[in-house]
Amino acid sequence: MSRQPQSRPVRLLLINPRFPESFWSFRWALQNILPDKRAINPPLGLATLAALCPPTWQVEIIDENIEAVPLDPQADLVGICGMAVQFRRQQELIKYYRRQGHYVVAGGSFASLCPEDYSGLTDTVVTGEAEYIWPAFCRDFEQGVTKSVYQENDVVNLEDSPTPRFDLLKLNRYNSVSMQFSRGCPYRCEFCEIIVMFGRRPRTKRMEQIGRELDVLRAHKIHDIYFVDDNLIGNKKLAKELLHYLADYQRRHDYVFRFGTEASINLADDPMLLQLLMSANFTWVFIGIESPDEDSLKETRKSQNTGRDLMGAVRTLYQHGIDVLAGFIIGFDNDTLYTFDAQYRFITGSGIQVSMVGLLTALPRTPLYERLQREDRLINGAAHGDNTKPGTNIIPKRMDYAAMVRGYQALYRRLFSDHGIAQRIRNKIRYLRSPACGQRYASRKGLDNLRRLFMHGLLTGGPARLFRFVSTLASAPPRAWPQVVEDWIMGLAMRDYMKRHFMSDSPRERQLAQRTDALIRKLFATDIRRGNVEIVTRLDNGDADLQILLRGYTRRAFSMRAVRRLNKLLRRSAATVTLHIEVLRADQRRQLERLLQRLARYGDRVSIWIGERARPLAPTIDSSVVHLLLTRDPADPNHVQYE
Ligand code: SF4
Repeated sequence: MSRQPQSRPVRLLLINPRFPESFWSFRWALQNILPDKRAINPPLGLATLAALCPPTWQVEIIDENIEAVPLDPQADLVGICGMAVQFRRQQELIKYYRRQGHYVVAGGSFASLCPEDYSGLTDTVVTGEAEYIWPAFCRDFEQGVTKSVYQENDVVNLEDSPTPRFDLLKLNRYNSVSMQFSRGCPYRCEFCEIIVMFGRRPRTKRMEQIGRELDVLRAHKIHDIYFVDDNLIGNKKLAKELLHYLADYQRRHDYVFRFGTEASINLADDPMLLQLLMSANFTWVFIGIESPDEDSLKETRKSQNTGRDLMGAVRTLYQHGIDVLAGFIIGFDNDTLYTFDAQYRFITGSGIQVSMVGLLTALPRTPLYERLQREDRLINGAAHGDNTKPGTNIIPKRMDYAAMVRGYQALYRRLFSDHGIAQRIRNKIRYLRSPACGQRYASRKGLDNLRRLFMHGLLTGGPARLFRFVSTLASAPPRAWPQVVEDWIMGLAMRDYMKRHFMSDSPRERQLAQRTDALIRKLFATDIRRGNVEIVTRLDNGDADLQILLRGYTRRAFSMRAVRRLNKLLRRSAATVTLHIEVLRADQRRQLERLLQRLARYGDRVSIWIGERARPLAPTIDSSVVHLLLTRDPADPNHVQYE
């Protein structure tokens, strides 16, 4: 593609699209316990990309998970990244900015897995690791001779990776900050896309690079760091070198950081690794346990988890002061409806509070996807980006699909009942030692968290929950009380998500949506007759979606009765509400603001589209809070065609 060469420094806007809410969002915890935080982790990939730009470029990073995207940016180039789960929003943003006349480049892990999905969608797509290919794109962009695809086929040496531009991120709005030491993992799990993208030979950064990044984060007064490596111990020798370095760094800097990471379960076999993790002050690790069933593990080629005592391994980590978060999967060919019970018993016995159970999902390009495609067991068009939803894109072998989904919902109901949360805490605390250097963080922050937990999580759960909370405290030594509080927070956050996204009771929800539809129609009766308002209620797939189109002036659009009614619908069901505003009066701006404030807590489930005519009078919509629709493209499943 040939364009005019850039005669002045390029202004680049990098955007991380909004994630749909999932277990990973921990929204309840962020809203109620950590109100000064907006998201769990910042977009490290964009900060690395910014560091790879020519020094003259003016780069801005917008993370739509914490702030609104600009609708009229002063940018020569817009870069939009995305994982599979972000693809829908990434598409919307790409289309919007291209329509506004911007040159748009797309990238991210989904673009690397499925570049063909971007063909015709964006001006340029960059696939694969960015370190070499992004500077090549930047050079071409400056000269006005860009190509539509930049594909990295070489293996990137991580020693060539620059210090990410942490200064471009609003670090204080995240719960922890991400760093990366390695890419690649030596194992061969059948469902894993990591080894498809990064290969099986772990590549690592040098210690000086890690030291530079830590220095920058220390200067920003960051304390919590998450090593986003998919398996930090993929190369144990190099991992030990890193941990020696981190332990020494911590000693020199008074243990300023708390670390967490992801690793394979064989971590528990190596006393030296465990000792080093303690010395460096790693306080948690995420482990892909997947299943307590040996045959399911063999089927999915999770060889590192087979032939071992998984429960014993978890407790070994606890005994070294390291909390365990874990991923579990149901839906392997070997799994049956009895598997749910086996998973429940293992998760409860192990005391793992943050237990991310997902239905087996096949991501394109993975060996699992290719096998199921051959076996004709992929569900056409089913979503595959988020495996923490009650649905998947595969046809299970030994279970009926609907029964599997019901079993999955029932498992979460059991896990996140007050009884389930309390039982896991007791089973963990029996083994978990305090982190070697963790106590220093406990005092002030712990008290604040306890106060907020009490107000927002315990009192609202009634005397039964209060009793369970007190009994878990009573069963733990005082040194473990901060962990008890933290586990209640995590448990209640996951329960809140589950309640809002899993528990849709279709007949009840339909009834509520129909009643809301009838009441709103009554409120707008005159306006509907005059053609100023249109109401559409969809009841597809058991999920209700109420859409209100304002296409003429109306007095009642944002009346308190309408607000209360919509609030009730959203509070009591998993329904979604979409407002399409084509016209707006100046005096309605404040009312619309109030409506959005009232509905903000439902986030994803509230969408709003503002037409060209209404835009000058509309308030600024924070797209990180509600879903700001940027297009009414009829091809997009998000958008309603009224005519
Ligand atoms: S251990 Fe984790 S990163 Fe490695 S192949 Fe298995 S799922 Fe992928």
